[in-house]
Amino acid sequence: MRIADKAVTRAVLERHGFTFKKSFGQNFLTDTNILQKIVDTAEIDQNANVIEIGPGIGALTEFLAESAAEVMAFEIDDRLIPILADTLRDFDNVKIVNEDILKSDLQTRIKDFANPDLPIKVVANLPYYITTPILMHLIESKILFSEFVVMMQREVADRISAEPNTKAYGSLSIAVQYYMEAKVAFIVPRTVFVPAPNVDSAILKMVRRDQPLVKVQDEDFFFDITKAAFVHRRKTLWNNLTNRFGKSEEVKAKLEQALAAADIKPTIRGEALSITDFAKLSDALQEADLK
Ligand code: SAM
Repeated sequence: MRIADKAVTRAVLERHGFTFKKSFGQNFLTDTNILQKIVDTAEIDQNANVIEIGPGIGALTEFLAESAAEVMAFEIDDRLIPILADTLRDFDNVKIVNEDILKSDLQTRIKDFANPDLPIKVVANLPYYITTPILMHLIESKILFSEFVVMMQREVADRISAEPNTKAYGSLSIAVQYYMEAKVAFIVPRTVFVPAPNVDSAILKMVRRDQPLVKVQDEDFFFDITKAAFVHRRKTLWNNLTNRFGKSEEVKAKLEQALAAADIKPTIRGEALSITDFAKLSDALQEADLK
């Protein structure tokens, strides 16, 4: 029997008198086939350390611990710590960290892996209310995670993996795809969770690129421009850029010069620009002295 078997999950919750906290995004997986598929998608073996975010009662942790060298799992809810000590008592390669992942100093934490030289994969059924902040926290930690295999709201997975000229494409797609190759691995129906969420979910696999997709002069400025271009999705790039930089004749002349240098039409919308186009645009804006 597995922790995720419905009868086992029910018994664990009852034994510990656990009640779900909506504000922590607690939807526990109760489908062992899906859990196996997640571990297969992440290609976990003894040559990988795993970071899990939000182990809950340990449904996914159990599968990860069976395959990985070591698992470090961050759980914010104090009430789950004694439960995890119970459900995962047979494993000596699991370390539970009772911490808010957004506040954790990951660079320091990862030194606690018995073998810190192994590649680190992030595998998790994420709390949906903070999916994007968690991904950005992981990316910004500058730790060279080899990949993320994470469950999230299907709509967010679609946005992250979106291509230009689609409704889902935006600054989030660019922020992630700059560093990682992102692909939806499979869709998960809401019926396999207790309690069932209001939306369907997807497993998104993100594999780190050897180097960022494009080379830019200034990364912060590049991300700033990608955000500015999508502030009003239905407006042209020109409108969004004049909102960002101002509407004086001097600014307009510089904008025209930069757009011409990047070979981009001002009447285009942000969603039509590839990540390479955004790199050319941000470099050209900088060269035209727009900051
Ligand atoms: N992994 C379990 C499963 O699949 O059944 C539970 C997943 S549940 C969607 C999300 C988990 O993340 C919960 O256990 C919740 O308490 C935890 N959590 C929520 N916010 C967190 C945070 N900021 N840091 C760490 N864990 C968090």
